[in-house]
Amino acid sequence: MLLRKLVAGNWKMHGLSSDIDEIQAIAAAASDYPEVDVALCIPAILIERAVRAVPGLAIGGQDVHHSDKGAHTGCTSARMLVDAGATLTIVGHSERRDAQRESDAAVKAKAEAALGAGLNVILCIGESIEVRDSGTAIETVMTQLGGSLPQSLCEEGELALAYEPIWAIGTGKTPTSDEIEEMHAAIRGKLLDRFGSDGGQVRILYGGSVKPSNAAEIFSIPEVNGALVGGASLKAADFMPVIAAAAGS
Ligand code: PEP
Repeated sequence: MLLRKLVAGNWKMHGLSSDIDEIQAIAAAASDYPEVDVALCIPAILIERAVRAVPGLAIGGQDVHHSDKGAHTGCTSARMLVDAGATLTIVGHSERRDAQRESDAAVKAKAEAALGAGLNVILCIGESIEVRDSGTAIETVMTQLGGSLPQSLCEEGELALAYEPIWAIGTGKTPTSDEIEEMHAAIRGKLLDRFGSDGGQVRILYGGSVKPSNAAEIFSIPEVNGALVGGASLKAADFMPVIAAAAGS
């Protein structure tokens, strides 16, 4: 099935109010490619300002707490993101799975809380280099996926998966096209098993050192329905060619 490509930027802990200009430049670039869905996941504190500055661009968070509200110092709920104007959020990024010790069950709870609040979700999965080298990447990612997926889906497009091999994030290294194709096919199979035909509507993004020079090749791989982009999403000059490559694929 041909799904619209989704290209989402993950700004991580980058971005000040002085970077709203860059967000405006990215929104302007994105508007040249209406055939691609473009989103920017930015620090929570910048969301409201960004939404005011670029009302046409999908702005998202990078994490949510699984609770609606309560005694969770420093955390952000899905309702808070919605209140700030966000329309999506990342959950389960490997940097959080590692540094914040987020389990698959915790990621599942976050995904369900975000979907329940009306946010679209980009749910991240991916293997370490040790797992890749041991030859068990597919089994490991399938186990992660099984434990992290929300119980059910309601609306088309509300959930996207991001396959992000941990060893490819921010390193300049990428899997081979065959390795990406094999993993995305396995993820699609699991989604179909789990959600029936609705699993065919879930976009599977690739993430890990996507940049202008490799984007076209990555987008040409079967079952790659977009990308989650870190470093190359920080500047419009780098992000624009990635969006253009998605449009051309
Ligand atoms: C990411 O942080 O999700 C990511 C893919 O980063 P980068 O593109 O910089 O590898």
